[in-house]
Amino acid sequence: MTLLDQRVAIVTGAASGIGKATSLLFAEQGAIVGLVDIHETKGQQTLEQIQKAGGRAFFMQTDVSNPDLVRSAVEQTYAKYGRIDILVNNAGIGMQKLLHTVSEEEWERLHHTNLRSVFLFSKYCIPYMMDAGKGAIVNVSSVQAEATQKHFSVYASTKGGINALTRGMAIDYARNNIRVNAVMPGCIYTDDLHRSIENHENPEALKQFIETMQPMYRAGQPEEVAQLILFLSSDMASFITGSCHTVDGGYLAQ
Ligand code: NAD
Repeated sequence: MTLLDQRVAIVTGAASGIGKATSLLFAEQGAIVGLVDIHETKGQQTLEQIQKAGGRAFFMQTDVSNPDLVRSAVEQTYAKYGRIDILVNNAGIGMQKLLHTVSEEEWERLHHTNLRSVFLFSKYCIPYMMDAGKGAIVNVSSVQAEATQKHFSVYASTKGGINALTRGMAIDYARNNIRVNAVMPGCIYTDDLHRSIENHENPEALKQFIETMQPMYRAGQPEEVAQLILFLSSDMASFITGSCHTVDGGYLAQ
């Protein structure tokens, strides 16, 4: 018996990094995974990888900042399987800029991609979960929500919003047996980080700089975040709701 046997899950940002690792793990644990991503080629690659391993999934190319496309992805999933048990709001983009240099368009793009998408996917999934009398939502936040570093204020505002939404939704839907939690990753080795290190004028120095900021002296792997998301999505976390959990190698404890 696997942890997510026959559960229907939607994972956003499933084509890369944490979302991809989560989708692969969910499928391995018996879930049928609705892969949502804006990136068609990489989304199809994730789908193929899952299917090759004998898992079940389907890909929905979707821009999570577009309300019509979000509603359509949720409706498509329900139409296919008649249920949505798990929602992982993971899609997100970064920004490291001083606030006065951020244009209104950039603010909007970041907020629509990182925060409004959580509102929209939750808004459209929750009625189905209420009808079913259960559900689990995991939102991917960041340690930046709690301890913002320099030049991260605008990005941090999206993640702080996610933590607030997580707690509020958890309270409002607890009676419906819908659990809502967040994970706050620290520094995680994703393609972007590998690329930044490779393209840096002194890759070894940047790598060392990143590592010395971590109590465990290393960045995390996407799979290490996926394991926490799996736990929170599964019945093993049946009494856990409204919590924002770090998965940061001790970064926030410093
Ligand atoms: P990633 O870039 O590897 O993956 C993000 C995925 O989201 C990509 O596949 C991308 O195509 C997709 N995406 C971006 N915009 C989209 C849109 N408008 N519609 C649909 N899909 C879209 O990044 P990641 O590091 O795996 O990030 C996943 C989440 O984790 C993000 O919310 C990020 O803020 C958060 N996070 C990451 C780290 C880290 O160190 N990597 C740390 C803290 C939090």
